[in-house]
Amino acid sequence: METQICIIGAGPAGLTAAIFAAQRRAQVLVVERNTTAGRKLLKTGRGRCNLTHTGSIDDFVRAYGSCGRFLKPALYAFPPQQVRDFFHSRNVPTQEEKDGCVFPVSNKASDVCKCLLDAAQGLGVVFLYGRHTEHITANQHSFEIRTNKETIFSRAVILATGGASWPMTGSTGDGYRLAADFGHSIIAPKPALCPLVTEEKWPGCLQGLGIPNVRIRAAAEGRRWESEGPLMFTADGIGGPAVFDLSRHLTDILSHNEKPVPVHIDWLPELDSQVLENRLLAEFTTHPKKEPAGILSGFLPRQMAQQMQTLLLGNEKVLVSQMSRLQRKNLLNLLKSCPLTIVRTAPLEQATITRGGVSRNEIDPTTMESRLQSNLFFAGEVIDADGPCGGYNLQIAWSTGALSGLSAAKK
Ligand SMILES: Cc1cc2nc3c(=O)[nH]c(=O)nc-3n(C[C@H](O)[C@H](O)[C@H](O)COP(=O)(O)OP(=O)(O)OC[C@H]3O[C@@H](n4cnc5c(N)ncnc54)[C@H](O)[C@@H]3O)c2cc1C
Repeated sequence: METQICIIGAGPAGLTAAIFAAQRRAQVLVVERNTTAGRKLLKTGRGRCNLTHTGSIDDFVRAYGSCGRFLKPALYAFPPQQVRDFFHSRNVPTQEEKDGCVFPVSNKASDVCKCLLDAAQGLGVVFLYGRHTEHITANQHSFEIRTNKETIFSRAVILATGGASWPMTGSTGDGYRLAADFGHSIIAPKPALCPLVTEEKWPGCLQGLGIPNVRIRAAAEGRRWESEGPLMFTADGIGGPAVFDLSRHLTDILSHNEKPVPVHIDWLPELDSQVLENRLLAEFTTHPKKEPAGILSGFLPRQMAQQMQTLLLGNEKVLVSQMSRLQRKNLLNLLKSCPLTIVRTAPLEQATITRGGVSRNEIDPTTMESRLQSNLFFAGEVIDADGPCGGYNLQIAWSTGALSGLSAAKK
């Protein structure tokens, strides 16, 4: 079988690459190991698909941090607003929420996936499903792509195989091996946007409980991070958006350092310490016969209030009128700067994204072409580039997909 461009992987990056290449009249074949396209895409945003974020290209570059500069040309090739326009013009209008996250109005990831598939098929892109790409070699003028069913000859290849997280969706890290065969360096894949495991066992007692808004501060190796948002207690630690964003930074530290990372959580960031202290004192005066948990349940979920009391006083029964000045100070500290010790991240299988991948140094950011192998391109999560929660990772897939597809077709 022969084609001009062979794309490995029918996730958001591969589908976008296919559309942009086919729009340039290239002959495009997509090889996908699953029997359907976009299996991970269907899971995004809990099935609602947070497909991008509001903001300018510069805002995105800043949000991506160290990989922002690398992603800038791709963001110009298919900017966030054009992504929204693309879906809108194909009957999948989008809307932004208060926090800037953008979703399809239908709140259905399946609409996003179908829209991409329809667009690609409408442009004549051919899909081969149930094909596991096992090996790729380069001959003088073409690539030989060996799948479990056939050998395909193609002038260009776009690797869009995703990372190594949520492997049940098809992204098992194959792209790293296929890229390494061409001499590419792989930055060690690590879990990111994932729960964190704590040394303390008490968070596990609150498993499933959510706190609507917390502020977490962390410091390690001379660097500091802060993140704010909802938190969810897990079986062995903490999760939820505020934790996920922090995990993106801590994963690097925890993977090369055996030392745990201390974090401090403000459970009530909307109340400054003085205001909170005054309000607590007023409550203590009005309800002297209550235990601290009885007062705290006016500020936090009941189970959490009880946990704070246990951390403060153990199993001792103390009324608020009996609390010493030191106990009151310690309570305020627990509410505004509760210490936890992070020992590791959740495993890669449970992480929303993979941090690490094909080294950016070996990819031309203006084309997404390999600097080591002519006509080999990369798109999406297989690249060592990642962003915070909020639609930033799908934007990487759309933008690098578009740029790789355009560049491959041009060549
Ligand atoms: C639960 C969950 C929720 C998420 N929610 C969001 C969100 O709301 N917003 C956001 O921005 N990001 C979200 N993400 C991240 C986002 O889904 C990924 O960043 C994105 O899917 C990456 O796209 P991709 O095309 O690079 O890779 P993938 O989506 O992983 O697609 C890669 C494709 O390649 C195929 N493949 C792999 N190896 C081979 C092979 N050897 N041969 C043939 N085919 C192969 C796979 O089967 C797969 O279909 C979420 C991730 C998860 C797990």
